[in-house]
Amino acid sequence: MSKIPQKQSKSAASVVTSAAAASLTDTDVRTGMQPAALRQAVKDHLRYSIGRLPAMASAHDYYFALALAVRDRMLQRWLSTTQTYFDLSRKVVCYLSAEFLMGPHLGNNLVNLGLEQAARKALAELGGDLDTIMACEEEPGLGNGGLGRLAACYLDSLATLQCPAIGYGIRYEFGIFDQEIQDGWQAEVTDKWLRHGNPWEIVKPEIAYYINLGGHTEHYRDETGNDRVRWVPQRVVKGTAYDTPIQGYDVNTCNTLRLWSAEAVESFDFQAFNTGDYYQAVEDKMISETVTKVLYPNDEPEIGKQLRLSQQYFFVSCSLQDMLHLLDLAGVPVENFAQRFAVQLNDTHPSIGVAELMRLLVDERGLDWDAAWAITMQTFGYTNHTLLPEALETWPLPMFAELLPRHLEIIYAINQRFLAEVRARFPNDEARVARMSLIGEEGDKRIRMAHLATVGSHAINGVAALHSDLLKASVLKDFYEMWPERFINKTNGVTPRRFLALANPGLRGLLNDTLGEQWLEDPGQLRQLEAEAGNAAFRSKWRAVKEANKQRLADYIRTHAKVELDPNWLFDILVKRIHEYKRQHLSVLHIVTLYRRLKENPELTIPPRAFIFGGKAAPGYFMAKRIIKLINAVAETVNADPAVNTRMKVAFVPNFNVQNAHLIYPAADLSEQISTAGREASGTGNMKFMLNGALTIGTLDGANVEIREEVGTENFFLFGLTAREVERIKREGYRPGDYVAGNTELRTVLELISSGYFSRGDSEVFRPVIDNLTQSDPFLVLADYAAYITCQEQVNTAWQDKENWTRMSILNTARSGKFSSDRAIGEYCDEIWNVHPATVKL
Ligand SMILES: *Cc1c(COP(=O)(O)O)cnc(C)c1O
Repeated sequence: MSKIPQKQSKSAASVVTSAAAASLTDTDVRTGMQPAALRQAVKDHLRYSIGRLPAMASAHDYYFALALAVRDRMLQRWLSTTQTYFDLSRKVVCYLSAEFLMGPHLGNNLVNLGLEQAARKALAELGGDLDTIMACEEEPGLGNGGLGRLAACYLDSLATLQCPAIGYGIRYEFGIFDQEIQDGWQAEVTDKWLRHGNPWEIVKPEIAYYINLGGHTEHYRDETGNDRVRWVPQRVVKGTAYDTPIQGYDVNTCNTLRLWSAEAVESFDFQAFNTGDYYQAVEDKMISETVTKVLYPNDEPEIGKQLRLSQQYFFVSCSLQDMLHLLDLAGVPVENFAQRFAVQLNDTHPSIGVAELMRLLVDERGLDWDAAWAITMQTFGYTNHTLLPEALETWPLPMFAELLPRHLEIIYAINQRFLAEVRARFPNDEARVARMSLIGEEGDKRIRMAHLATVGSHAINGVAALHSDLLKASVLKDFYEMWPERFINKTNGVTPRRFLALANPGLRGLLNDTLGEQWLEDPGQLRQLEAEAGNAAFRSKWRAVKEANKQRLADYIRTHAKVELDPNWLFDILVKRIHEYKRQHLSVLHIVTLYRRLKENPELTIPPRAFIFGGKAAPGYFMAKRIIKLINAVAETVNADPAVNTRMKVAFVPNFNVQNAHLIYPAADLSEQISTAGREASGTGNMKFMLNGALTIGTLDGANVEIREEVGTENFFLFGLTAREVERIKREGYRPGDYVAGNTELRTVLELISSGYFSRGDSEVFRPVIDNLTQSDPFLVLADYAAYITCQEQVNTAWQDKENWTRMSILNTARSGKFSSDRAIGEYCDEIWNVHPATVKL
């Protein structure tokens, strides 16, 4: 494991604390860290920011007042941070991501500022309860799942490691939908997260840029005789900055998440108004605002949706224009762009940035092509998140040309030079040229965004060792052969501040008592826990923490899923987006197998288990929605059957999000990571479970491979085909029917589901799922079924030895240090961005 980057200085928060202790002046009330100062600040915000008498204030009012008081303390650090970066002329990381799944801010900011105890005390003195007040926060769900959550973890680590960084993204008015379960089906409800206001953001009306869309280009010769291009847009949209401060843990560094919101350009309105076309102006305004109205709720690219491309271009152009503006403010010549900014593309969603930076440098700043291209290449790094060729983003050429006519010309020009390079390196290989082109020509012409990102970046990384290897052997093989030195791996990570300190206060306390507090910024120190795994008294404390977490989740599930769970049972948890490749239905086959065995053989002794699911399906994903219905149907039958429900139960937690993830990950005994090998790029849920002491049952996929290496093969439940075997079987012609024919138990399980047994006699509702499995089974569920069932039996055996299970649980946490996002960000800084920490003083 590579070493954890160390910060240059720390404990600014504690310095402030002692400084504020002496007296309570005005500034202390505004920014002091003592409970008394915080209490007064909450009272003042209640009165002067919200306009509420304490007697009339609701829990939400107190939430808002406390949030504003905490924000004041962050803004002090934010201003110092901005000043420091400016004074030191530091290179800044710009993390471009169409999604940031931040989760609730209040709790995390309290942890990072070291203010939890002060806040708890201050609120108690005001007659409030911190947990109740934190529960009032409407989480900003500006992401679908893993990719957006990764971006959020990386912002936390960048600030904690004191790296100058800005996260750039989109301020969607509606984030990921809220999921309700109605009669077992998913129903989507609009996420009106801004309805009660957002205390964490600061609008910057003066930081706004104009974004062109549509229209045509005009080529002309300027007064010095140079060929120039002018883009005459069909319409212009204005993007305004909304800043959210991102506080690092135990440091003064407070970075920025800058999200862009689209609105109409005022002058357009006036013009229309003057000519009497008021309604046209109103319509333009509505159309302009549509750009940032809603997050696309799909984990995979939206085929041919022009609005989606508009969103991508909109936020990328705003962000790059902002960087140029910052450069101008600092008086740095544009030639030095790449020395001042490292721009990371989180998947292909922002990859139009390659063409946009070229446009800005060549068309707007007058650089010649080669100089601009050198800057562009040095600036960008590209993180790939998928291996599925069908999940790689492409845009139909006519649609692209209509929306971004100038960028199409630029992409053609990049392609021409690039393909000349390919031909020079690989003469007489036109098949290769066609494969690598930025324009796909099989069927309709399409722009290949992954190729654009790859050609325009100096570093291309996958997100787990296996994924990076497969990238080089599959979707980006030709590019790897051309530029092997550009390809590297950066295994994902998660922040231990949110996913351990905040989510699991019981474990945090035990770790602090055992190891001190340093592990939170140096998770390598968790290794010292290995020594405690053999200590029976420690194991007993460890179990007590886990059991309390299970009780906490059981309480939540009683209220939200109406299922009663016993915290003494094995908690087997599968939470993530619902997707066929993630194979929630494989777990269902296990549940039904167990159910049948218990019905057939009432004397069978198995350790009782609670199967807990959670996750959203894309609203248009037919099969995923059926799988949700199937889980709920099986749950209903199992939970109501007295012959089995003392030994197994099933619960579906509605609306899996970051807020309830805080309750879910720490309560797991067993983490289900059962995707088809070669399909999950990395996974980060697997890391959150491990960090919280769950054992994993999983395939050799994504970061599972490295988790197993770190924790030791004897502490990991491995099953299933390898990526190589999956490929071979598919190549040779996979016949799922053979597995059905060869396994009586599997056949009976499938028949039981088909028969309508779990659906009140309805034999139609699950037919699509069963037909899909028996006829094509694209994710080899049936091929892995037998191995999975056997592996689950090993889990049962292991669970019966409580002491040894606890020992393995401790080892999981002890050996999870590699999966801290601090380690990942340290590697990005050193090996891709060449960015260095800057200590911020208050
Ligand atoms: C971590 C996380 C994910 C990603 O989970 P995977 O198991 O890696 O797919 C998705 N959603 C939320 C809310 C998360 O916290």
